[in-house]
Amino acid sequence: MKVTASSSNLFQLTHFGAINCYLVREDDGFTLIDTADSGQAQPIMQEASKLGLPIVRILLTHAHIDHVGSLDALHAALPQAQVAISERDARFLSGDMSLDPSEPQVSLRGGYPICQTKPTVLLHEGDRICSLEVIATPGHTPGHVAFLDTRDRSVIAGDAFQTLGGVAVSGTVKLLFPLPALSNWHKGLSLESARKLLALQPSLLAVGHGRMLSHPQAAMERAIRVMERSLAQEERKQPHVA
Ligand SMILES: [Zn+2]
Repeated sequence: MKVTASSSNLFQLTHFGAINCYLVREDDGFTLIDTADSGQAQPIMQEASKLGLPIVRILLTHAHIDHVGSLDALHAALPQAQVAISERDARFLSGDMSLDPSEPQVSLRGGYPICQTKPTVLLHEGDRICSLEVIATPGHTPGHVAFLDTRDRSVIAGDAFQTLGGVAVSGTVKLLFPLPALSNWHKGLSLESARKLLALQPSLLAVGHGRMLSHPQAAMERAIRVMERSLAQEERKQPHVA
């Protein structure tokens, strides 16, 4: 895996040039955010050990296969490590693909594998896990979350944004890398979540697909405008129901 350091606290691990997970340094070891696709448990643990710390907890931004692919193998190798995901997306890990009546009744997209690993912590908006604050960012998936590092306002945004092929809100198709858009659940919610992340005034945007971006706010704003225009266009095309 390719390792890119953003600071002494945040390391991006990249597989295939396209799939990222992150090591966040805490006092007791590394928090791993996301687990890449399958077959990456050993490479991830090797990179952590080269950086000199054990992985003590695993946080998941959402339940898509390129984020939970190595979860079971990592859990088997690191049974003491906490495993945390939003309460909403935890249901997908166990194979429950139902939508709640309160949610938009829009088909789920992307791969949601069933995992043997049972989360030990279910995350909600505002929870704190060491330095990281949980930010609920539904849209890409119903229970997608991002993490704000309260030490330096880095945001680990999962697939709420992408930077590969251009900076985009999840749901905007980037021809060079359309995967996040094609697996997006609900564009309107993705847009709201993107605005919420921008309002945090992040110092750095770290995403599931693409390089990390420092001083990301202008680029995030532009991506939000693109999504706003695309949604407005779609609305004009929809026949209005009286
Ligand atoms: Zn995804």
